[in-house]
Amino acid sequence: EIRLDNISKAFNGDQVVKNISLTIKDGSFTVLVGPSGCGKSTILRMLAGFEQQTEGDIWIDGKRVNDLAPSKRDIAMVFQNYALYPTMTVKGNIEFGLANRKVPKKERNLLIAEIAEIVGLSDHLDKKPDKLSGGQRQRVALARAMVKKPKVFILDEPLSNLDAKLRTQMRTELIQLHEKLGTTFVYVTHDQVEAMSMGDEIIILNKGVVQQKAAPIDVYQSPGNLFAAEFIGQPP
Ligand code: ATP
Ligand code: MG
Repeated sequence: EIRLDNISKAFNGDQVVKNISLTIKDGSFTVLVGPSGCGKSTILRMLAGFEQQTEGDIWIDGKRVNDLAPSKRDIAMVFQNYALYPTMTVKGNIEFGLANRKVPKKERNLLIAEIAEIVGLSDHLDKKPDKLSGGQRQRVALARAMVKKPKVFILDEPLSNLDAKLRTQMRTELIQLHEKLGTTFVYVTHDQVEAMSMGDEIIILNKGVVQQKAAPIDVYQSPGNLFAAEFIGQPP
């Protein structure tokens, strides 16, 4: 279980995340949704340890992780721009996810093959990223996160660079992947449809403040406030 406890973040005195407290259940597909600039990526980055909160505590499985480096948090992050290494092959990129972990070569190759199979990259392992389609690059980013077998996946608008058709397809694939792995997914999007169709728990954010946290059906049937209602297109 992940717990944010009175988390705030200010950049140069400008508070962009305002005293947020919430719990993310183990194994959930939790979607953080809200307009551009509302603080979604900042929250993810604090959770993963790439950014330090100005105030508050982050707890993972009852352990306070405020001072833990990203690599010690058992969380893997998939970035919006994929952040692949252009000079490395697909295999190299995936393997890089294992950096500093002393996995023997043979075992490593098996693991990479297994994960490549899951995300449909088995035939592309020797290619460089510039020879891949957008969807394939996205899968490499996913595979690189998966190879760590983390307890939590954090995905920051992973589908925003894809065309509409591929985006729809990848939504289904991510839902299936979540079911298969059973790990916690924390997923950020600014797309209401994506949030409502993918999440089992939705957190609606505006201007650094949580507006509502509920299952999609509950958000739909009883929006927590006017912002939530308008945001999901269901005026009261
Ligand atoms: P988007 O949907 O556009 O990705 P977001 O919800 O992810 O938006 P954040 O990236 O979390 O928004 O940014 C929230 C606010 O914090 C914005 O006003 C942004 O300008 C500001 N901000 C984010 N990172 C920094 C930084 N390193 N320095 C200064 N301001 C920052
Ligand atoms: Mg963002």
